[in-house]
Amino acid sequence: MEPALVTTTLDTLGEPLSEQELCPDALLAGQEAAFHRDILRLQARRAEFVDVACPACGADDAAPIFSKHTFAYGRCAACATIYMSPRPSEAVMADYYASSENYRYWATHIFPASEDARREKVHRPWLERVIAACAGLRRPRLLEVGAGFGTFAALAAGSGRFEDVTVVEPTPELAAHCAARGLNVILHRIEDVPAGARADVIVSFEVIEHLFEPHRMVDACAAMLQPGGLLVLSCPNGLGFDIAMLGAASLAVDPEHVNLFNPRSLSRLVESCGFEVVSLTTPGRLDVEFVHDAIARGETDVSDPFLRRVLVDEYDRLGWPFQQFLASHGLSSHMWLVARRRAAS
Ligand SMILES: [Zn+2]
Repeated sequence: MEPALVTTTLDTLGEPLSEQELCPDALLAGQEAAFHRDILRLQARRAEFVDVACPACGADDAAPIFSKHTFAYGRCAACATIYMSPRPSEAVMADYYASSENYRYWATHIFPASEDARREKVHRPWLERVIAACAGLRRPRLLEVGAGFGTFAALAAGSGRFEDVTVVEPTPELAAHCAARGLNVILHRIEDVPAGARADVIVSFEVIEHLFEPHRMVDACAAMLQPGGLLVLSCPNGLGFDIAMLGAASLAVDPEHVNLFNPRSLSRLVESCGFEVVSLTTPGRLDVEFVHDAIARGETDVSDPFLRRVLVDEYDRLGWPFQQFLASHGLSSHMWLVARRRAAS
């Protein structure tokens, strides 16, 4: 497979980040218990799962790669996307998110406890990246798909850089949080947004990996943008370091993440929906910590003495520089894509 277009990111990686800042340890047990109950509910509906072809390229030639919580994942022979199949039907997914205890726990406990850290260490750097991507657009209208708690959208609205900020959020509890912040809220899934909605830049962070048919979301975004309008997506990179090292033990592999794209396959997906890729970066900051922690917990082992030195023995000295190397060479498990709407041909 030829290498994908990957732009270096070292300048914009920002300061080191730790998972502990995003989800305080004291709340982990409650979150894990809620998530476990969600998974049991999902397992109980296995009869409604459906087989799917590759969500990126449409090929139907995936080799089994691993299973987790009894759910099976394959890797597409054509584009290396890792995806769950069989997967919950669209109706099962909709019920799952509507009744998710995990999401309720995040909304009532983790987001409020970690919002300041998330705003400063995650969302503000994201906003700077989005503003940089919008350099050619004058006071664009921004729309965020899957805005969740609304932290990013509120920050964007407060920046004064956008003509207006609208969020598309189908989960009523989360949409209410967004509305309380004074944001324009469309209480729909992006695929169901009424025709005629318009934006100049659409952003969607950590959403596309959850979707039953991700190309429908990208199609819907294309329909809302004029030629030259921008789409900014972030999601896990299935070829990134912590997924490559940990496989099913990676935190990125969970029953909600049914699509684990990679730089090339995500690019191909958006290109097939009327976009051209402007940049593809992997500005992740957590791969090395995730692998280091998994080794410390005994969930994985690294026998290679050189890698062990970087990830364990001299982690305090080498961990962050190694993370910077991964991030700046397209090797982190977290990726960003900026794409431009092409003129209709
Ligand atoms: Zn594929």
